[in-house]
Amino acid sequence: MKFALVDDIKTEAVKGAKGICPSCGSEMIARCGNFKINHWAHKGRRKCDPWWENETIWHRSWKNNYPIEWQEISLLDEKTGEKHIADIQANDGLVIEFQHSYINPEERFSREKFYKKMVWVVDGTRLKKDYPRFMKGKSDFITTNKPGIFKVDFPDECFPYAWLESSVPVVFDFGKLFESISGISNPMYCLFPKHENYYALIAEINRKTFIKTTLNGEWLSRTEEFLKQSKKTKLNRTFIQPIENTIRRKPSKYVLERGKWKKRRRF
Ligand SMILES: [Zn+2]
Repeated sequence: MKFALVDDIKTEAVKGAKGICPSCGSEMIARCGNFKINHWAHKGRRKCDPWWENETIWHRSWKNNYPIEWQEISLLDEKTGEKHIADIQANDGLVIEFQHSYINPEERFSREKFYKKMVWVVDGTRLKKDYPRFMKGKSDFITTNKPGIFKVDFPDECFPYAWLESSVPVVFDFGKLFESISGISNPMYCLFPKHENYYALIAEINRKTFIKTTLNGEWLSRTEEFLKQSKKTKLNRTFIQPIENTIRRKPSKYVLERGKWKKRRRF
């Protein structure tokens, strides 16, 4: 973790320091070495939150965009006694989880159920093939009458399978690939939760805008309003389709059946 309590103050790890876990109250040791990012670990290898993943520079640079008071917030479900540490919880209750590792769909779903008002930010560069696969799928994005909003018939061709059924918005961050090139705009792509329409909605989001709207509290209202509107009024396809969309494509491996993505059966 980035923080432990030292004299009741959220403190970052420095060599030799000892602290208290703000979530479970047990002792923590500062780990400051050459290989891993400086962090606090529970004494004796125990982890109080099974959902916690070891942090990378990617996690830290995301967290650092938000006030310290919003970072690593221990949340308790009073009915079940379940407790987890959210990467970020904003003043309006929005939880932002930064996910680098693979997560299976069941665990993803339990986290969404626990945090409720949340958005995922997913490291889109975990596997080497993720970005090329996304770029290939992106050529089939269908533009709509709203700038930066696309429809996709086969989201499984762009995004990892584990995220397709998400009940909350999932933002894919491909930024790591562009870090060395200064000044380049590296948009992120937000996959919205599926509704009854037989396509997925994707928004191209600028990193700065994402940070700004999650900081000022506009994210929740804007995404809720967008989803409400898109359910009510069908987003019109623009009249001129990119040429590649008119070419008949090979069918996807997955098919949407009664609201669930299933492997296409062979007949
Ligand atoms: Zn703990």
